[in-house]
Amino acid sequence: MGEKNNVETLLAQAGHYLDKDSGSVVPPIQPSTTFARNEQGDLYDSNRIYARDQSVNAEMVEAILCELEEGASCKIFASGMAAATALVQTLRPGDRIVAPTVMYWSLRAWLISFCEDWNINLAFFDPRDAADMVAVVKAAPTDILWIETPANPTWEVVDIQKAADLAHSVSAQLVVDSTVVTPLITKPIAYGADFVFHSATKYINGHSDVIAGALIAANEDTRWERLCKLRAQQGGILGPFESWLLLRGMRTMHVRVERSCENAMKLARHFEGFSGVKEVIYPGLVSHTNHEVAAKQMTGGFGGMLSIRFNGGKEQTGVIMGRMKRFVRATSLGGVESLVEHRALIEGEGTPVPDDLLRFSIGIENIQDLIEDLEQAIRG
Ligand SMILES: *Cc1c(COP(=O)(O)O)cnc(C)c1O
Repeated sequence: MGEKNNVETLLAQAGHYLDKDSGSVVPPIQPSTTFARNEQGDLYDSNRIYARDQSVNAEMVEAILCELEEGASCKIFASGMAAATALVQTLRPGDRIVAPTVMYWSLRAWLISFCEDWNINLAFFDPRDAADMVAVVKAAPTDILWIETPANPTWEVVDIQKAADLAHSVSAQLVVDSTVVTPLITKPIAYGADFVFHSATKYINGHSDVIAGALIAANEDTRWERLCKLRAQQGGILGPFESWLLLRGMRTMHVRVERSCENAMKLARHFEGFSGVKEVIYPGLVSHTNHEVAAKQMTGGFGGMLSIRFNGGKEQTGVIMGRMKRFVRATSLGGVESLVEHRALIEGEGTPVPDDLLRFSIGIENIQDLIEDLEQAIRG
């Protein structure tokens, strides 16, 4: 028997949790905000003083995510945005961050206003163009290169190793938003990333009932120390109950992600070239612009996210969405139920997303049910 558990075992057993007092296989929720001292004034557990930053339930999640991503340290937050914004807040006036034009919409909007307010230089590159990333990063001294792969909602795949080499060649650090793939498909640190970001709201929790974020560091460097201090001072930690729910969701992550990938691949193949369909955008299809890079760095499947562009423009696309009976019309992704969203309408003016595109988060339902639903919606 090997010493290290495989990921499936680690997840299913929540790190082989056993409660020493009761023998329970499920951890209790520990809501205490404060931790006591003995007669001498020493803490019973020297790791914890106050729960604004120190939480038994959060630490259980962090230990597992850290191991999955093969990082040095992990911190979880009350939302993905809380985690991402804290990391960007480690920058100082005059520093520079480079980000893709196609990325999580709310983070892009926040970045623009934050960087303007705090005199941080922000530049965007086109994730479809590797040469553009190099040119933008090299145009001025850069501190952080932020990438999202595959990128929401057009699923450009950025070569993490190339991005890491580029960042390091100019003494910058690479952050990878890995929300869409989970550590089961891609481990960015293995390709040289300095930080991995997750909206744990999505696949990591997987049940559309917790908002959470996670950051994993390759090394506990000075930026990470600053980040940890920010979380402690700002109180961005995830609460005990949400951490407990998140851990519960994580126990089935490998099974959920595997089924989502399988279903997404079947759906993508079925609708590629289907009458009324202009394009299926899925990194698992050979027709995808970055399929080769995807095949190299997405090793556990190609994810559960895909987009489809339809003939007939914005109006017809809206009609198709309206006819769906099994897909749920809602934002977000990574849950066990399949969702559909007309992204351009949600993002509004200035969005780079085509208005004939529907974004699908493929869940773990019966795939034939999903295919039938989309077929009837297209045919009318
Ligand atoms: C949802 C999401 C975020 C933001 O996370 P929240 O948990 O909603 O705050 C960031 N990046 C990606 C790719 C996401 O899907």
